[in-house]
Amino acid sequence: MKEPKIEYVKKSKLYPAFGYANQIPPKISIRDDLPKIVKKFILEHEKYHIRDWQRLKKQNKKYNWVWGEIKANLYGAVKHPFGFFLCLIMSLQPYRLKLYFTRFKQGK
Ligand SMILES: [Zn+2]
Repeated sequence: MKEPKIEYVKKSKLYPAFGYANQIPPKISIRDDLPKIVKKFILEHEKYHIRDWQRLKKQNKKYNWVWGEIKANLYGAVKHPFGFFLCLIMSLQPYRLKLYFTRFKQGK
């Protein structure tokens, strides 16, 4: 895949999200206030999203975001288990759960 551009940004730019992947052009944004190990995990997670999107586009398949998140989390967890674990703990907060709930309702 075309290597994505990676940028570390202020918390306020992405909050309540930890990271963001842009499909075209491929670019990954990660919050710079997160613990280093969490940033490493997020980077692998977002990289996976971009590869996943590119592959599905080639195969002309539809993207399912819930399944996409599961795959990206598993992929990141294999690379950085502790980062995943810490990210999980940090995600069990009302504002994070609200984000997932909103995304679930919007279906993306
Ligand atoms: Zn994701």
